[in-house]
Amino acid sequence: MPIIIIAMVVLIILTLILYFKLRSGFMKSFQQLDKLDEVPQRYIAIVKCYNNDYIVEKEFQEGDFVGKIVGECPKCRNKLVIEAIFAQYTYRKR
Ligand SMILES: [Zn+2]
Repeated sequence: MPIIIIAMVVLIILTLILYFKLRSGFMKSFQQLDKLDEVPQRYIAIVKCYNNDYIVEKEFQEGDFVGKIVGECPKCRNKLVIEAIFAQYTYRKR
């Protein structure tokens, strides 16, 4: 058997192995991507003191709106207002 034919057969086998390896790797990462599930979004409210000396994040509650007074500043006893509300998206594995 000429050596060139053996070399070609080896090359074809190697190419096939590589092809299936790559393909299974791709399928795996694709499945992992599918497993990632979007968590129901959280709403965060930024609460800020009128005097700008205190900022805190809190979980958005029904009825919250920008400008709403939510309490008293623990530092200067001024009013705490909701400065901004934003949605937070997180992902987790199923
Ligand atoms: Zn304050």
